[in-house]
Amino acid sequence: MKILKTALVALLSVAWMGATPVLAQEKGTIGISMPTKSSARWIADGDNMVKVLQDRGYKTDLQYAEDDIPNQLSQIENMITKGVKVLVVAAIDGTTLSSALQQAHDAGIKVIAYDRLIRDTPNVDYYTTFDNFQVGVLQAKSLVDALGLPDAKGPFNIELFGGSPDDNNAFFFYDGAMSVLQPYIDSGKLVVQSGQTGMDKVGTLRWDGATAQARMDNLLSAYYTDKKVNAVLSPYDGISIGILSSLRGVGYGTKDQPFPFVSGQDAEVPSVKSIIAGEQYSTVFKDTRELAKVTANMIDAIETGKQPEINDTKTYNNGVKVVPAYLLKPVLVTKQNWKDVLIGSGYYKEDQIQ
Ligand code: BGC
Repeated sequence: MKILKTALVALLSVAWMGATPVLAQEKGTIGISMPTKSSARWIADGDNMVKVLQDRGYKTDLQYAEDDIPNQLSQIENMITKGVKVLVVAAIDGTTLSSALQQAHDAGIKVIAYDRLIRDTPNVDYYTTFDNFQVGVLQAKSLVDALGLPDAKGPFNIELFGGSPDDNNAFFFYDGAMSVLQPYIDSGKLVVQSGQTGMDKVGTLRWDGATAQARMDNLLSAYYTDKKVNAVLSPYDGISIGILSSLRGVGYGTKDQPFPFVSGQDAEVPSVKSIIAGEQYSTVFKDTRELAKVTANMIDAIETGKQPEINDTKTYNNGVKVVPAYLLKPVLVTKQNWKDVLIGSGYYKEDQIQ
């Protein structure tokens, strides 16, 4: 009996082992190049991509470059050498991949820019992302609403932070936010005491929270010794946490001197906790599960010779061409709706947050 059972298990596992590689081999390997593990969102992106693609029978080669540009280049070159079918790339610096992508093109490998546009090359075929201008609009609107504008008289003091100047998205976030804030700055209801506006002055290289914290320290000591900050435009949760630490350092975050309203992006766990505690005011949720799904749909279409689904053919000019894109919708999260949006959608489990 035991021998029979063993034989059966062996037979089944041979059949199983036989079936899996054939399927995977048929579908081939997809190369996924991610920028860094230092932010939870990119870890979720990588995990989701691997899961969706493996469920559909692809093999995956997922690499993180730890925000090091030469590292990302060599990881991509390796994937090309290994013969991946499609490359999915979330670039560290959107302008540095041209030579590698030329190699990809020459090898017949299609390239999807994932979340961040790859610039200055004809060799990017598609782009999957969120409506990045709208992200900035949502961030700024949340601050304007919190301040009670347009009805409130003000004037209110606001400081502005931008994302990494080598990431195309940073400009979209900033421009979206300024489309809401600029009219209030022009009318004097919002005042940037530092006078620092424009991405060349407010950008934060590599989206680094410590860099933002240091800049906020400088702003507070140079412009706010006898004034209060009422709002801070922050493009990303890691930056928001840095800004809040700086503010805490000079006495904000008490009953008498509450934190200014601070925006964010990505609904990372520390920021969701901070929102619940009444510190960070808002964040923008971008469902990375959906981004993985639309990217996998695109890969399926490419691999079966069909036309991938696109919903934007105008917005994303990469300096050489307009890259056909699929844009998803970002969602604003505050203390009012975090549970519905983040727990209700199953993105987080309640015990991750509480
Ligand atoms: C992404 C944001 C993220 C930022 C920092 C941007 O390209 O679109 O979601 O907050 O990079 O990682």
